[in-house]
Amino acid sequence: MRSLRAGIGYHVGTPVGFAMTAPSRPKPYLEPQYCKGCLRCIEACPKGCITAGTEINPATGLVPVELHLENCTGCSLCMQACPEPYGLRPESERPGPDGDFVLEDPAKLFGEKCVPNQSEGDIPESLIALPPCAPMVLKGTYASAIGALLAGCRHVFGYPITPSTEGAELMAKILPKLNGSFVQAVSEVAAVNMMYGAGGAGLPCMTFTSSPGFSLMLEGISYMIGAEVPGVFVNIMRGGPGLGNIAPEQADIKLACRGLGHGNTRAIVLAPSTPQEMLDLTRDAFALSFRYRNPVVVLGDGYLGQMTGTVRLPATMVRPGLPAWAVWGDRAHRHNLISSIALSEPDLEVHNQHLNRKYAVMATCEQRVDCHRCADAEVLVVACNTPARMAKGAVESARAQGVKAGLFRPITLWPFPIQALVDVLPGVRRLVIVEAGPGQLEDELRLALSHAGVMPPPISSVRRCGGILPPEDEILAGILAHEEVLA
Ligand code: SF4
Ligand code: SF4
Repeated sequence: MRSLRAGIGYHVGTPVGFAMTAPSRPKPYLEPQYCKGCLRCIEACPKGCITAGTEINPATGLVPVELHLENCTGCSLCMQACPEPYGLRPESERPGPDGDFVLEDPAKLFGEKCVPNQSEGDIPESLIALPPCAPMVLKGTYASAIGALLAGCRHVFGYPITPSTEGAELMAKILPKLNGSFVQAVSEVAAVNMMYGAGGAGLPCMTFTSSPGFSLMLEGISYMIGAEVPGVFVNIMRGGPGLGNIAPEQADIKLACRGLGHGNTRAIVLAPSTPQEMLDLTRDAFALSFRYRNPVVVLGDGYLGQMTGTVRLPATMVRPGLPAWAVWGDRAHRHNLISSIALSEPDLEVHNQHLNRKYAVMATCEQRVDCHRCADAEVLVVACNTPARMAKGAVESARAQGVKAGLFRPITLWPFPIQALVDVLPGVRRLVIVEAGPGQLEDELRLALSHAGVMPPPISSVRRCGGILPPEDEILAGILAHEEVLA
């Protein structure tokens, strides 16, 4: 259909008073399965012809827009605004009644992706030997960053927050030289959603954050767990609640072990206590994250993040592969979809049962602990992170005074290493829980004992909080209470 327009003063160069015929312009039509519901076309349309959709497309789990083209002028602004090559198209390109819509080869549109192998299966990671390197003296956040780089992480997203900032700062300096990306997001909420995207593309990615920032990320972590997206969160805990202060605390144990956003969420929580472990456990966190397709939390404290210590590099570093499930832009992966939505109740129940089976495997296979003088211990100290270092000194002092003390240091806070604890408990008369927090480690211990059906010996605690670490003499006093000591 062609339309007539009066040309009076209509266009520069159009003779005044001359009626002209404007060429018809095709209106848009929508391929709903290619609309991601970004709503850009709604903003672009000057005639209000496009509205937000109300129905989920079952093929994509997304909500495509709806067209109402009575007033459409065919200006094409909506088609220009649409970022999807097959979202809004001119009506003139709609296939006829017998024709199927044929997807053009993305490689023709965008060029070939730089993918080494477009196989349907996983592209496995490989190990690269590192040259011998003298031990280094590093602060904990730097050691963690190096551990991530050696695990193949080249995508880091974050928002500066003390006392974790130095990790992100080092990544911002190094990653551009390694063809990687560091993005300082506008907030922690943005950072975690960038991780969702990068992790969904099968890329090892991480963030550095600290307690208030970690709180902001929880919704996104729940989405990542629901969608089974890997990613590593290094949380350098500081004093809370609220803004608190920037001194070390251990009051995010509850959050990491019991409170990772809404729904049925779990993640392995690793608790380093030295700069060396900051490196080793961050590197391990990437392997665990991809093994289980689940986020992993590395939970350090503010003292550990800033403390320097001797760090030795491993003999190898990882060249990441590409998992078959990754949402990647080549032909082999184009059908993949990462989503945490399951609107059908039975589907969501099945998904949760699948997650529960995965959590059960983590709980059985990933318990880690460091036992120091536990074999004959009668007074067992339980501590993690930096307080475990003070506790170790206190255990040695107690031994010097004839008290058989030992240190049980959980390296995984979830799953709690209950099996190892049950093994050493028969000879233990008392448990002393040491923490720089209000008792969240003790809660994890008591829950684990309760689930295991084990009645513990008497439990006492040595706690400081507000950014104060329990000093060695207070821990020693806690060990020696009720004990007969050598003169
Ligand atoms: S072609 Fe122009 S008027 Fe028609 S829907 Fe698109 S933006 Fe609106
Ligand atoms: S711009 Fe394209 S992808 Fe975005 S809502 Fe409109 S049609 Fe859908």
